[in-house]
Amino acid sequence: KHPPIPPRSAAVAASPMQRARRRTGLVAQHPALTLDTGMTDFARRVLVEDVFVALGANLGDAAQTLRQAVAAVGRLPHTRVRKASSLYRTAPVDSSGPDYLNAVLQIETALPAPVLLQALQEIETAAGRERPYRNAPRTLDLDILLYGSGQIDSPHLQVPHPRMAQRAFVLEPLAEIAPERVSPAQREAVADQRIERLVGVLLS
Ligand code: ADP
Ligand code: MG
Repeated sequence: KHPPIPPRSAAVAASPMQRARRRTGLVAQHPALTLDTGMTDFARRVLVEDVFVALGANLGDAAQTLRQAVAAVGRLPHTRVRKASSLYRTAPVDSSGPDYLNAVLQIETALPAPVLLQALQEIETAAGRERPYRNAPRTLDLDILLYGSGQIDSPHLQVPHPRMAQRAFVLEPLAEIAPERVSPAQREAVADQRIERLVGVLLS
C-alpha cells in the first residue's frame, strides 16, 4: 500500500528557509521551487535590497500612470519590487496644478544608483514627462529616496534625496512600508501638509 498523496497545497507550501531564499533571490534547492529570477550570480551578489523610490503624478490618469510605472520598474534588469505603499492624494508642494497622487516603492536591484536613475528617467519620458520649467506639473516623477546606506553627492544625483524630509508625500508612504526609516519627529514636522491615504485604489 502507498502512503496517501499529500494535498497539493501542503506539497508546495514553502518552508521558512525556502521563503528566505525567495526573498534573497537565491534559488531554492527543490526543483519544483526553483525560481528563475532572471538574475545572474553576479547580480545576486551585488544586490542592494533596500532601495526606495518615490512616485508622483498630477496630470492625466495619475493612478494608471503610477501602476504602469510600478510594472515598468519591476521589468528593469536585475530589479524586483519588494513592497509598494498605498496611493496617497496630496496637495502640490512647491508645485502647481491638480492634486498629486504619490506612493513609495521598496525595490531590490543590482543596478548602480546612476544607472537606476537613468532607467527611471526613461520610464518618466515614456510616460510623456515634459520639463517646461522647474517644479512644473508632471505626468510622472520618479525619485531615488534611499539607496541602501549609500550617500551620493554628484551634480546629477543626491542620495538620500535632499528634500525628502520636508515632504509629507514622501514620509507618509515611506513610513507605511518602512516605519523604521521615518521618526515620529520627522512626521510631526510635515503634519501641516495635506495628505490622504486612498483606500480601495490599488497601486499594484
Ligand atoms: P524634481 O526635483 O521635481 O524631482 P526632476 O524630476 O525634473 O525634478 O529632476 C531634476 C533632476 O534631479 C534630475 O535631472 C536628476 O538629475 C536630479 N536628481 C538629483 N538627485 C536625484 C534623486 N535622488 N532622484 C531623482 N533625481 C535626482
Ligand atoms: Mg524627479
